Amino acid sequence: MIMWPERKRFAVTLSFDLDGETAWESSSLGGRRLSLLSMGAYGRRVGVPRLLELLARHEVRAQFYIPARIAEIDPEVVRSIADAGHGIGCHGYFHERVDEQSAEQNWQILRDSKALLERTIGQEVVHYRAPLWEITPDVLSALIDLGFKTDSSLMGDDRPYLVGGAPGELLELPVSWVLDDWEQFAYSAEPAMGGVIETPDKAFSLWNAELEGMRAYGGHFILTMHPQLIGRPSRLLMLERLIERIGELGDAWWCTPDDVHAQWRAGALELPLHPY
Ligand SMILES: [Zn+2]
Repeated sequence: MIMWPERKRFAVTLSFDLDGETAWESSSLGGRRLSLLSMGAYGRRVGVPRLLELLARHEVRAQFYIPARIAEIDPEVVRSIADAGHGIGCHGYFHERVDEQSAEQNWQILRDSKALLERTIGQEVVHYRAPLWEITPDVLSALIDLGFKTDSSLMGDDRPYLVGGAPGELLELPVSWVLDDWEQFAYSAEPAMGGVIETPDKAFSLWNAELEGMRAYGGHFILTMHPQLIGRPSRLLMLERLIERIGELGDAWWCTPDDVHAQWRAGALELPLHPY
């Protein structure tokens, strides 16, 4: 069992993938289809400001993973997130699948995306989450090569672990389909995407059960959300209930990838090493 800082029983990270229009824009499907593009635009236009307000009210620092293309179409939204004190991580350029690129393409996309985000916010960007959580060995190597500190795309544990060629080169913050709002709320009629649109109560019940489990086992509750989905009014109310519930428990260590990395660097966290 991991000994969490401040003698807390478990860790909690709220993360948001600000995909915006990128997934549509880059595919043959979406370029001209304004309705599809607008589903993504809702996330940065409406979802993000409401999320920033909600997080500020509860004094929660979260992590946003952003395709670098968003910094070109809407640099202000990226800066507003950084200015509010939240962590910024790289999420590809066009939200491209890394397993469909060559190793050279992946390396260039990572280097250029990191640089573009850094120019936009005036801070180093050293955290990464692969689009669609699809990651390949060459991307892990490129992350290490380019000075990234953490990744959050793998599912090999429910506590942070070290991954990569040599011990301690890259810290992994593992995700899970259980803790993803995409499974609950994503829907498009054509192209067919997602399934049944679940109620906020159903998602709350699922996430709250996982929260109890993470608390019992001393795990790291890392919730992945998308501003275009969680930013709908009914779901924001549900997220607020969840934040309040975590607060009431009183024994969660709220953290971002920066916090976990700093604790590990300071020797305060003992983490296992896994190949993936
Ligand atoms: Zn994404």
